[in-house]
This record gives sequence, C-alpha cells and structure tokens, in this order.
Amino acid sequence: MKIHPGILALLSTLILPALATAADHAKPSVGPDAALARLKAGNHRFVSASISGGKPTAARRAETAEGQHPFAIIVGCADSRTAPEIVFDQNIGDLFVVRTAGNLVDDYALGSIEYAVAHLGSRLIVVLGHQKCGAVQAALAGGDAPGHVHALVRAIQPAVRASKSQPGDPLVNAIHENDALVAKKIRQKAQLGDLAAQVRVVEGYYDLHTGRVEWAQ
Ligand SMILES: [Zn+2]
Repeated sequence: MKIHPGILALLSTLILPALATAADHAKPSVGPDAALARLKAGNHRFVSASISGGKPTAARRAETAEGQHPFAIIVGCADSRTAPEIVFDQNIGDLFVVRTAGNLVDDYALGSIEYAVAHLGSRLIVVLGHQKCGAVQAALAGGDAPGHVHALVRAIQPAVRASKSQPGDPLVNAIHENDALVAKKIRQKAQLGDLAAQVRVVEGYYDLHTGRVEWAQ
C-alpha cells in the first residue's frame, strides 16, 4: 500500500514531536525529595563555609554543553545577594533559575518552568523569598511606584493584604505570604500535564545574615 507523501508529512509532524517528548520524559531526573535534600546539603555547606572550590570546571562545562539536566527549578528574587547557585553551593547545569524582583511569576516564568519540567527532567520547584525583600517592602509601604516597578508592587499587594492582620513583623509576614501565593500560582497555573503528580513545589526563605534557607514544608 502506498502512502501519500502528504499523509507521511502529516504523520511525521504529529508523531515525531510526541516521540521527542516521550524520550525527554524517559530521561532520568532526580526526584523532588532527593533534589530538596541536595539543596539542603548545599545550603549547609554554604552556611558553614565548607564550599567546594574551583567551580565551574572545564570538565563540567564540557559535560553540560552537551545537555542540561538541572535537578531543581528555583524561582528566586533578582536581589543580588540571593544568587541560588551560590547559596545552594551548586555548579553550572545544576539549577534552572528564574529570577524577578519579588520572585514573582508571569507567563514567561511559567513557560520557563513548564519547559524545565517537560524537557529537562526537573521535578522540584523552589520559591525562594528572602529577608528584607525590597519589592515586598515597596508593596508594604503602599503608594505609587514609578514605571514598571508599579506592576511588581501591584502583584505583591494581595500578599500584603492577606498578611495584614497576622501577628509579628509585617515585612516578614508579607514575604512569607508572597512566597505562598507564588507557590500557589505555580501549582494552579503551570501546565505540567501528567507530570504534575511528580512535581513538588516548596517555599524557602533566605536569611541575608546567616545564609541559611528556612523551609516552609
Ligand atoms: Zn527581593
């Protein structure tokens, strides 16, 4: 039986991407609990200043140039003091990092997360807030912010409102609430298909003074 070339083209269009996706899914990835343990161990090394030196190595660079399999996705703040590779003592290729002021997620960030889960094998998503976050501080202060900072502040306002009546430090409360709302948004809006059941979203809070990350879950 002869198959029309047009049908063949159609089949390859439909089937090849599906095969590629299946192959991507089949690649070994670190499970979420093992990934979290690896981050905790890395942060412990960072806090205790027993950091492995000399990275990234040429060998690691060559290895990752052929392909990346980051074991965790970090949604962090753009704050220069909170670089995930440093605070978790990791190398190039280890972490898939998305950073915006206030560790917020928009469609671009969600798309990046979806890509890392579907194609790079990442199964742990960390929303990493931090002490004295300027973006949350601005939202807490209220009032108008200039330019596109306005959009950041507006996106954090729900966290400020939700944490208003909580006892304790208003800024710390708002930061925790913001992290929780971002984590919730990722759980609800990231389109992870059948991989969603394998993915864990956790919240971390980075202390600028001690370097320690506290975990909400
Ligand atoms: Zn911040």
